[in-house]
Amino acid sequence: MIQYPLSLILKNILVKYIKVNKSKVYKIPVSLINMTKKLHFLGTGCMMPTPERNHLSICLELNGELMLFDCGEHTQLQIKKKKLPLSHIKRVFISHWHGDHVLGLPGLLMSLGNTQNVGVVEIHGPKGTLNYITHMKQSMIFDSKLDLQVFEHTPKQEELQEIVKTSQYSISCINLNHSVPCLAYSLKEKDVLNIDPKKSKQYGLTTSPLLARAKMGLDIEHNGEIISADMITYKKEGLKITFIFDTRPCKEVQLIAQDSDYLVMEATFLYKEHAHKAEEYDHMSGKETAQIARDCNVKELYITHFSQRYKDPTVILEEAKEYFENTHITYDLMSVIIK
Ligand SMILES: [Zn+2]
Ligand SMILES: [Zn+2]
Repeated sequence: MIQYPLSLILKNILVKYIKVNKSKVYKIPVSLINMTKKLHFLGTGCMMPTPERNHLSICLELNGELMLFDCGEHTQLQIKKKKLPLSHIKRVFISHWHGDHVLGLPGLLMSLGNTQNVGVVEIHGPKGTLNYITHMKQSMIFDSKLDLQVFEHTPKQEELQEIVKTSQYSISCINLNHSVPCLAYSLKEKDVLNIDPKKSKQYGLTTSPLLARAKMGLDIEHNGEIISADMITYKKEGLKITFIFDTRPCKEVQLIAQDSDYLVMEATFLYKEHAHKAEEYDHMSGKETAQIARDCNVKELYITHFSQRYKDPTVILEEAKEYFENTHITYDLMSVIIK
C-alpha cells in the first residue's frame, strides 16, 4: 500500500467552498483545479555519459506525484537541480539492468531513506530485478530506512501486462527486444468529463462554479432546473504516455506505442551512418524510431538516449523528422508541459 506525503494528501482532499446565488455553497476538490503534468528529462545520454548528457532518467510529474523511468548515474543530482521534491517519488520503473539505466539507484535510495515523509517506494523492473536489488544492498553499507517494495514483471510474449492501477491512471509494461530482459512502460490516464461550452451556454451556465460539479459527473440545479452532467459535458480521453528504451524494432514496440499522445523513445544512432551499429547493439536509429511513431498513430515523439559519438545529435532529429514531423529532441534538464 503506497503512503503519500501529507502535502500531497492535503492537496487532494482539500476543497474550495464556492458560494453560488447567496445561499448555495459547493465543495470543489482542489485536485481538480491544480493539475500539473510535465516530463522532466534528467538524463538523455547513452552508455558513456558526457559533460552535456547524463545517463538516462526521465521523470513524469503527474498531479503532484513523481515517477521515475530509469535511474542512471547522477539522477538524484539532476532531480535536485530541477528542484523536484524527492519525497514525492513513489514509483521507479526500471527498463533493464544495463548500468546506464540503474547506476543512480543506490544513491537515490539512500537519499530517499533519509528524507522525511517518504513512506513506501515501489521499484518495478524486469526479470532479475529482485536479485539485483538484493545484491545492490549487500554490496555496500546501505544505511537506509526506506520501506522499499520491489516488483519483478515477466509479461507474456506480445502481451501488455497491467502492473499499477490507481483512481487516476493505470500503467502497463511489455517485453522488448534487447540483449537482456528489458521492459517498456505506458501510463494511461482515466478519461475525464469536460464542459461543452455551447451546451452549457444553452442552460445559461458559462462561468458558474456549478460547472465543476458537472465535471465530476454530478447533476446540478440551476434556475429551478435539474441538469444532468451528460447534458453539458463530453468525455475527454485520458492521455497515454509511453516510455521505450533500449530495443530493436519489434511487434511489442508497436503494441505499446500504439495511439500514444506522448512517446519517449530511444534513438541511439543515425541510420544513414550507423544502421549496422543499431542492429549490432540492439538499439534504434532516428529513422526506425520515427517510423514507429508514424505507423502507430503517435501524436508527439521525444527522442533520447543518444550515442556519445554524436557531438550534436540534431542530425538524428533531422533524420527522424523525414519520417515523422512531430519529433522533438531532448536535452538534460529540459521539461515539457503535458497538455
Ligand atoms: Zn542504454
Ligand atoms: Zn541496454
